Amino acid sequence: MKRILVTGGAGFVGSHLCERLLKEGNEVVCMDNYFTGRKSKIVHLMDNPYFELIRHDVTLPYFIEVDEIYNLACPASPVHYQHNPIKTIKTSVLGAINMLGLAKRINAKILQASTSEVYGDPEVHPQPENYWGHVNPIGIRSCYDEGKRCAESLFVNYHQSNNVLVKIIRIFNTYGPRMEPDDGRVVSNFIMQALQGHDITIFGDGLQTRSFQYVSDLVDGMIKMMNTEDDFIGPINIGNPGEFTMLELAENIIDLTGSKSKITHQPLPSDDPMQRKPDISLAKEKLREWQPSVDLRTGLEKTIKYFDGTLQDKSIQELV
Ligand code: NAD
Ligand code: UDP
Repeated sequence: MKRILVTGGAGFVGSHLCERLLKEGNEVVCMDNYFTGRKSKIVHLMDNPYFELIRHDVTLPYFIEVDEIYNLACPASPVHYQHNPIKTIKTSVLGAINMLGLAKRINAKILQASTSEVYGDPEVHPQPENYWGHVNPIGIRSCYDEGKRCAESLFVNYHQSNNVLVKIIRIFNTYGPRMEPDDGRVVSNFIMQALQGHDITIFGDGLQTRSFQYVSDLVDGMIKMMNTEDDFIGPINIGNPGEFTMLELAENIIDLTGSKSKITHQPLPSDDPMQRKPDISLAKEKLREWQPSVDLRTGLEKTIKYFDGTLQDKSIQELV
C-alpha cells in the first residue's frame, strides 16, 4: 500500500483521482484550500479509513510523509484563474516549489498536472510535446499559461539538479461529472444552458476547436504516467485527439438534450486559442495500453445526466 498526496484533490479531476487511487488499494491524503473545489465532491470517501482530508493552501509549505504526490492544485477554468491572477501564479509557482521541496526531502515521486495551455495559441497542429508554444506572456491567460510553464521548468530543474523523481503531463480539455455547473468552461456552460432552455453562448464565430477528453481517460493516463520507468519524466500529452469546433459541440449538446435553446454569439475573449489537438503518439508508446476510450457523445451523455441530476437537487454521490 502506497501513501499518496493529491493536491487539489477536492476539485473536479482530483476527486476522481482520489477515488481511483483508493479503489486501487492506496492510502490517499487529499489537500485542498476549497477555492474551486468542494467537500461534497469527496465526502463519499470520508468513511474510508485510508482517506484523509487536509485544508491547506499549496502556496505555503506542508510537511507530511508520503510515497507519491499528484500536484493538481490550481484553478483550471479561465473565469476562475483570471479572478485573482497573482494568486494563480503563486499557486502554480510557489505550489510547485513547496511540493517539489517536500518530494525532495521525503524522497517521493511527484507528478505535475500541466496543461495544453503551455502551447498557447499554437502555430503547429496537432501539438507534439517538442513544440515550444506560442503564449502571450502579458495577456489575460498568462497567469495560468506562464505559471504552468514555470512549474514545468521547476520540475525539470529539481529532477536535473536534485534527482527528484518527477513526471509532467500536459492535460487537454477534460470534462465529466463533478465539474461545477457554474465552472465557466465550455462543456458545463453549454450543457447547463441547454438543460435550462437558455441561449447557448458561443464566443466568437464558434469555429475555434478543442479536443475534449472524458475524465476517466485522463485519470487512467495520469496513473499510468506515474508508474512509468524513473528515467521517463515527460512532458507527455494526455488528451483525446477528436477535434471539434465550438459550433459542433453546441450542436451535439442540443441534439443529446433535445433542447430548444438557440445559439447566440458573444465576443471572443482575447488570446483565445484558435485550435487545439494533442499529438498522443508519445503517450501511446510510453503509457502501456493507454489511449482515450470514451468518445465525445458517450462522454457528453454521462455528463448531461450528471448535470440534469444536479438541477433536480440530487446529491453528487447519487449521480456519479
Ligand atoms: P478544479 O478547479 O476543479 O480543481 C482545482 C482544485 O485545486 C480545486 O479543488 C481547488 O480548490 C484547488 N486549489 C486551487 N488553488 C489551490 C491552492 N492554492 N491550494 C490548494 N488547493 C488549491 O480544476 P480541474 O479541472 O480539476 O483541474 C485540476 C488540475 O488539472 C489543475 O492543475 C489544472 O490546471 C489541470 N488541468 C485541467 C484541465 C481540464 O480540462 N480539466 C486541463 C489542463 C490542466
Ligand atoms: N467558450 C464558448 N462559450 C462559453 C465558454 C467558452 O464559446 O460559454 C469557448 C471559449 O472561448 C474557448 C472554448 O470555448 O474557445 C473552450 O473554452 P474553455 O474555457 O472551456 O477552455 P479553454 O479556452 O481554456 O480551452
